[in-house]
Order: sequence, then C-alpha cells, then structure tokens
Amino acid sequence: MVVTRADIVDGLRQLGLDGSSEVIVHSSLSSFGYVEGGAEAVCEALTEVCGTVLMPGGTWDLTGVPAPPGLVRPDNAYWNAADWAEFDEKLSGATSFSSDLPVDRWLGRVPEMFRQTCSPLRTSHPLFAYQAAGPAAERLLGAQRADWPLGPIEALDGDVLLLGVSHTSNTTIHLAEQHLGRSLFYRYAKNADGLWIELPNIPGESHRFDDIEPVLRPATKELRIGQARVRRIPKDAVLGAARQLIQADPAALLCTDNPECRCAAALQQLGPVW
Ligand SMILES: [Zn+2]
Repeated sequence: MVVTRADIVDGLRQLGLDGSSEVIVHSSLSSFGYVEGGAEAVCEALTEVCGTVLMPGGTWDLTGVPAPPGLVRPDNAYWNAADWAEFDEKLSGATSFSSDLPVDRWLGRVPEMFRQTCSPLRTSHPLFAYQAAGPAAERLLGAQRADWPLGPIEALDGDVLLLGVSHTSNTTIHLAEQHLGRSLFYRYAKNADGLWIELPNIPGESHRFDDIEPVLRPATKELRIGQARVRRIPKDAVLGAARQLIQADPAALLCTDNPECRCAAALQQLGPVW
C-alpha cells in the first residue's frame, strides 16, 4: 500500500481540520507504511490543510550536557559528570544552539523535514526549541521562555494531532503535570563557547501516558491513514483529562515500580501535601 500526500490531506480533512486549525503535531513517518514523497509529503499535507502547525524542534542530542560535578538539585533524576575534566570535555564536544541545527532524530523524521522545507519560525531554547508555520506561529513561539519551555503548547488554541504515535509522545500531558507542580526538571546545555546554562521546567518521563487513553476516548477523533493510527484531540481535553487523573491519584501517568525512573522523582516533587 502506498500513501500519498492526497491521502494524508483527505484524512486530515475528515478529522475536521481546516485553515482555522492550530495543531501541535507528534508524528512517526514509518507508521504510515510507504509514503510517496516521504516526510516532505506529510509536511506539505499538514500545511495545506491546517492553519498553524506547531512541531517540536529540540536539539538535545547536540546541545545537552550532563550536570556539572556536585550540582545536585532535589528530585531531579539526572546524572553529573564524574569530575570537571569530564564536564569540560562534554561541554567542548557539545554545540550551542543555532536556528540551523537539525532537530533531534528521536523526535521523528517529520520535524526535521518541516524545518528544512516549510520555513517555519523556530524558538532558540537551548534544549527544547519549537518550530511553527502559519498565522499563529509568532504568537505560539513568543510564549516560550528559557525558563518555561512548554509555553507554545500553553498558547495553542487548538488540537493535539498524533500521527501514528501514542500518548507517550503527547507533550501536552507534561504541561498538565507542570501546572500541578510535577515533572519540573532542571537540565543543562551548552549556551555558547565555553559557557553552560541550567534550564528549569524541563518535562519528565512519559512511558505511562497511554493510561490517559480511556479518559480521552470521547474527545478523540480517529481514523487510519495508510497503516497509521491518526488521532485529533482538543488540547483542552488533554489538559483536563490529565488534571483529572493526577488530582485523583498523584502517581497517575507515572510508573511506580521503578524507583530509578524519573517518574519517582516527578512524584516526589509534589511534596507531602499530596
Ligand atoms: Zn517511569
């Protein structure tokens, strides 16, 4: 089976998306099966149908560094360089952010193709950049601060679009966690030659996020494009469902069987009041 750009356009329109839509897109190209035109066809279909398309544009693999020796934040679940020699080596091996750096491969092939072919605007967060194209792009990206990386999702007036990925890729759930005081981590990046920076409010682990699916089912529009399961969920429904689950159980959407996981630290951040 061959999936074409027209098939993707058709599917997105069947989900009710149009030129007034603002979407944050999380995607897996391979989930579709064979796409004629590859990631570029996916990007073209998204920008043809939707008004504003927001995608991750992070560069963690190139810009991230370990925590410096001795810098241990409470409940931060991160590792330190063994000594300053190792830290300096990592720092000199890293790259400081610039707008032409490729998007991390673990975010899928589509965001990097989006950057290359759709001339999106991009924020300059040293780890967690976002990119967007369309009429609301400037407004969404302007909502990101170095100390508040998920600002663009907070500013989005629209939907989460999952293209062949599960809720483990749904960063909007992290925003709900952070609103409730959970999954607020410090991480470190190269900021410029010889300089490093500490960045707060970086989200945590997501491998239990599919637990949200039953709660979101009534709000989810879903179809198949090729072999990909494609879902459109209003952002506010995602925030509401995550809030509901976490308020009922502070450990909701976290794994509780692995004390080494970032999930355990995320839960500790809530403190004894919970
Ligand atoms: Zn976990």
